[in-house]
Amino acid sequence: MSSKNRRTDDPRKGEGAKRGGHTRHSVQDNAQRTAALVNVLTGGSPPAPADVADVLRDHGETGPVDVSPADVAELRIAAEALRGVFAAPDLAEAVTCLNRLLAEGTGPVRLSAHGGDTPWHIHLDSGDEAPWAEWFLASSCMALAVLIWDRQRPPGGVCAARRCTNVYVEGGSGAPRRYCSGRCATRERVATHRRSRLVRDDG
Ligand SMILES: [Zn+2]
Repeated sequence: MSSKNRRTDDPRKGEGAKRGGHTRHSVQDNAQRTAALVNVLTGGSPPAPADVADVLRDHGETGPVDVSPADVAELRIAAEALRGVFAAPDLAEAVTCLNRLLAEGTGPVRLSAHGGDTPWHIHLDSGDEAPWAEWFLASSCMALAVLIWDRQRPPGGVCAARRCTNVYVEGGSGAPRRYCSGRCATRERVATHRRSRLVRDDG
């Protein structure tokens, strides 16, 4: 089990975050990272540590990302637990699931600036060098909890396309999403069109 070399819960720690006032964007970005990690870590066989590191880098992790096979095993357990929040059928069950994770899997609120490398932001893990799985569960719980607080609706869902198990994060406004990606939405639209044409031809 390796600990993280460096981590941030503020993917915009470049110019954007330094200007301040980006909490909401950061929370949305962190929730997107949670969904991407849940998707790479669950729904199939264990990913290679390098694949997990790629997702972390895609979502703002900088410097060397040291993820071991043991980390992946622990991250998968956290990811399965977090999938429950996305899979909840309604807001009340998402909250119940998230409250259980917060009670069992995260520590008290603390502030960190990673030694001055980032703006001050909130963590729920035990320290800046906590293992990846602890950080993943804690940062995900916080992002999802803040999204629920902010929007009073479920933070995301599971893709409605057949044969897709990906989770997704809701946008801030507009109609609820149903699919993880434009690709899945298009595929389902084509399949529905084919089915309705078959029904018409039969009739
Ligand atoms: Zn999908």
